[in-house]
Amino acid sequence: MTEAEFRIVIFAWIALAAVLFPIQFFVTAPYGRHTRAGWGPQISNRLGWFLMEFVSLAVFVGLFLSGRVDKSAPMWIFFALWVAHYIHRSLIFPWATRTRGKTMPLVIAGSAVAFNLTNAGLNGFYLGYLAQSYPLSWLTDPRFAIGTAVFLSGAAMNIWSDYHLITLRSGSNAKGYAIPRGGLFELISCPNHFGEIVQWSGFALMCWNLPALSFAIWTAANLLPRALSHHRWYRQHFPDYPGRRRAVVPFVL
Ligand code: NDP
Repeated sequence: MTEAEFRIVIFAWIALAAVLFPIQFFVTAPYGRHTRAGWGPQISNRLGWFLMEFVSLAVFVGLFLSGRVDKSAPMWIFFALWVAHYIHRSLIFPWATRTRGKTMPLVIAGSAVAFNLTNAGLNGFYLGYLAQSYPLSWLTDPRFAIGTAVFLSGAAMNIWSDYHLITLRSGSNAKGYAIPRGGLFELISCPNHFGEIVQWSGFALMCWNLPALSFAIWTAANLLPRALSHHRWYRQHFPDYPGRRRAVVPFVL
């Protein structure tokens, strides 16, 4: 595939995100608290998370390592951050959740596999096969430095918030939901989703390429509507839910 053809694929992929973005405000993906009947066969929640996310690890690693592009230090840093994120998300997070006995629709896991296959495929293929190798001087470029800082702060927010939520399930609340409090939860309902959006925006900045940008756009297109659904759900289920808390962007949304 030439670079020009690759660019067309990326723009088509971004266009699809733009089409699906408004739809997700009306149709909330039925997993987690939004699980509901009518979506066909179900699989275990943990198995679903593993399958959905392991694809991103395997495909990216395979394409990056097999590609003929000469890998420079900045590219190995992109590689390390992607791999670290997906080792956590596919091999640790599913078993850290307190979701034993919960299920998700097979069709949701399947569409997430397709989504992750495409994102990891585009990013891995670009870095492995198409990129002009990033020079060492890229390490001192402000885009790299700021992007790395943004990525790491987003990842810290995301992981801290996910584990904070997970530990809410204990004692008498072993299966249900509680109002999260403390840290960024005082400002927004979904700091894990906010952190994930920040994280992949930072990745797009530090890599400064189209596939990383398309992944950041897709992440925001998926998680902004999901966070708004979560926020609405909290307000419907907890009469004492903090009224000043926003959904996903502090003080804004
Ligand atoms: P949620 O916030 O819905 O859930 C995270 C975990 O905490 C789940 O195990 C959930 O259980 C549990 N939980 C959530 N809220 C509460 C509560 N109030 N009380 C008790 N337990 C709670 O996150 P998502 O499932 O939407 O996403 C999980 C991760 O995956 C996030 O980090 C997200 O950013 C990431 N993600 C990334 C996407 C992308 O496009 N890059 C797309 C989707 C997710 P339960 O599952 O039973 O609700």
